[in-house]
Amino acid sequence: MVKAKIAVNGYGTIGKRVADGVRAQDDMEVVGVSKTKPNYEAAVARKLGYDIYAPAENMGAFEKAGMPAAGSIEEMLEKSDLVVDCTPGGVGESNKPLYEKIGIKTIWQGGESHTIAGFSFNAASNYEQAVGRNLVRVVSCNTTGLCRAISTIDRALGVNKVRANIARRAVDPNDIKKGPVDAIVLDPVKLPSHHGPDVRSVLPQINITTAALKVPTTEMHIHTVNMEVNSDCTAEDIKKIFSSESRIRFVGNGITATSEIMEVARDLGHRRSDVWENCIWPESIAVNDREFTYFQAIHQEAVTIPENIDAIRAMMQLETDGAKSIEKTNKALGLSNDWIM
Ligand code: NAD
Repeated sequence: MVKAKIAVNGYGTIGKRVADGVRAQDDMEVVGVSKTKPNYEAAVARKLGYDIYAPAENMGAFEKAGMPAAGSIEEMLEKSDLVVDCTPGGVGESNKPLYEKIGIKTIWQGGESHTIAGFSFNAASNYEQAVGRNLVRVVSCNTTGLCRAISTIDRALGVNKVRANIARRAVDPNDIKKGPVDAIVLDPVKLPSHHGPDVRSVLPQINITTAALKVPTTEMHIHTVNMEVNSDCTAEDIKKIFSSESRIRFVGNGITATSEIMEVARDLGHRRSDVWENCIWPESIAVNDREFTYFQAIHQEAVTIPENIDAIRAMMQLETDGAKSIEKTNKALGLSNDWIM
């Protein structure tokens, strides 16, 4: 099988996971990853066997640090079929002219705006619409978690309205530029937060409003979601519908905190202690007429990784059926139905 050749531009929290995720598949391969500086992450990437590409003007610094780059970022792109841009929000936009010059298929992340690609992706919501596309944006972690849950309920019951409150992790665990943090920050003060409109970039038919607070943790986001549906239902019905979605996991066994979910992932030996699924507390589901509320936790570093893999498969036309791609990605990454929580 000829594998799709993938470049990962930006090797930080998301980029390193996308690279490992691509590597785990049998229908795509990593051409290389880019680093701007020869720092500890570049050294680890080399140890993991990735070819490192650097901005042409910084290649000398890599040479000097004893870790010569395999080439420039432009050279990496020229050898590849598709680039996954995992640079910080806003930087992806400035890379667009280079990608256009080379004529390479491109995936951007949720830190960029919808207009960069004109199409925002979530596998459970709109896989088929991504098939053969040249430009796709994989929505952010919070939007991914909301889209997965909302599209699952929408298919089964029809969603009339969603109201969600988001407690956002302040920073990622390795982020010493923005941390340490000790406050609860209105993010933003002026409501609604951007997450509702972002969900609508994937699911335009959904009436949704969101509010968000940044809280002093590095371990996951928590959403308190309220949905009004078009059919009568019980908590058992909602549980059954959620359990039909392979990227939703139930949390039980007395777990009441995100740190305990992360501990389960560490105990089970998940790579980088990643949790790729929405973690929903079935006990929290409370139904009132045609309205229900529940809690879900979202691991910000991991939740969009399976989505990036599916987006690659759709754009490269390696699989036109979304359900089949999701199953393949899940199996290769290690998402498992028997994950006990
Ligand atoms: P990050 O800061 O951890 O990593 C970005 C990497 O890109 C760094 O290694 C940086 O050195 C590198 N970089 C910067 N400028 C570059 C350039 N011009 N060319 C090549 N590399 C460059 O950022 P991240 O958290 O991985 O975020 C990447 C994207 O993913 C953003 O759009 C973000 O909004 C989105 N996202 C982040 C999270 C999260 O929780 N971290 C979750 C979902 C989506």
